[in-house]
Amino acid sequence: VRTPSDRIRELDTRHRPITRQCRRCVLDSTVPDLELVDGICQYCRTWGTHVGHTIDTDPARLKDKIDALKAGGKGRQFDCLMGLSGGVDSSYVLMKCVEFGLRPLVIHVDNGWNTAESNHNIAALVEQLNVPLITKVLEWDMFSDMQLSMLRASTPDGEVPTDHAIYATMLSEVRAHKIGAIVSGGNYATESVLPADWGYGASDWRYIRSVHQLFGTAPTDQFPHYGLDELAKARFNGPPTVRLLNFLDYDRQQAIDELVANVGWEDYGGKHCESSYTRFFQTVLLPHKFAIDKRRAHLSSQILAGAVTRDEALHELEAPTFDDRWFDTELPFIMAKLRITPDQFWDIVDRPPKSFRDYPNQEKNVQRIQAVRYFPAKVKTRLRSLRSR
Ligand SMILES: [Zn+2]
Repeated sequence: VRTPSDRIRELDTRHRPITRQCRRCVLDSTVPDLELVDGICQYCRTWGTHVGHTIDTDPARLKDKIDALKAGGKGRQFDCLMGLSGGVDSSYVLMKCVEFGLRPLVIHVDNGWNTAESNHNIAALVEQLNVPLITKVLEWDMFSDMQLSMLRASTPDGEVPTDHAIYATMLSEVRAHKIGAIVSGGNYATESVLPADWGYGASDWRYIRSVHQLFGTAPTDQFPHYGLDELAKARFNGPPTVRLLNFLDYDRQQAIDELVANVGWEDYGGKHCESSYTRFFQTVLLPHKFAIDKRRAHLSSQILAGAVTRDEALHELEAPTFDDRWFDTELPFIMAKLRITPDQFWDIVDRPPKSFRDYPNQEKNVQRIQAVRYFPAKVKTRLRSLRSR
């Protein structure tokens, strides 16, 4: 008898033949657009060249950033807006901000999937650091319908409705409180490598909405969203996003130790597993249905940042992405929460993988707007290099 675990294991990417592999990082032929030149992939070749997004641990640069945030907050109620998930990155950057004397407004978007640990962490941080928190709860019938429609669309973008709602909520809080900057836990140390073909759509409302029109039923007019015009406005005139962890010597394990010691923070295991949905999506569905093992991207980022060796990373990748107890401990909860039957769950697993390109989308325009974000920095660098000639 084939058990559910057998069915998932048959799809295990670790058992697929690897035809191509980067010599420096751990990306391989599971990245469709991998371009090897002398055995080195494009992500390794361009590492460190993303203007404004590299690691810079010069204390003077950090002080500049903090001073600029404080200056921008003068005469305002808050210096910055910060999203908090209860995960390591967002928790740590919040703790540091308070340590540096910044006055953040903290926002948490609750999509209904928080683990007990992440709820505990959010409460502990807010209480210990004494910071104001706004929690935006996404209405469950609406949000779960949106999430299910993305799963039925069979694209690797099952987290996109959450990501879109978070940014939409942040944009509206920025406006409501006239906040001058967003401080994010995004960081180059663990997130510099992210294959373009592994996910799309967080900023593409047309894609999200059209998938929902095809596969969903609940009304979504209350869903926090933004269109191209608002995206463009945010990029051109909106508050800058400061990735403060890029200016610290950010080490994930050290950050966890500090959080545990200072605020009684609780660990929940793998990266981004502070939500039970994310754990399902990232450790079960993505690797087994789409051959996307996000650990490869995280570990590659860490290799390039010098935090782990390639051998250590390869060793870590030999472990399964999840353990079999998941079928008993979490799967029943996930099906009950999404209100789907086992047949409907297996239908989601078995549908052939698709891409956002199979649905109406605004990829070209979104890319055009997002490219502009780096334009001023690029121009400045160009000018500087011309001047020094
Ligand atoms: Zn590489």
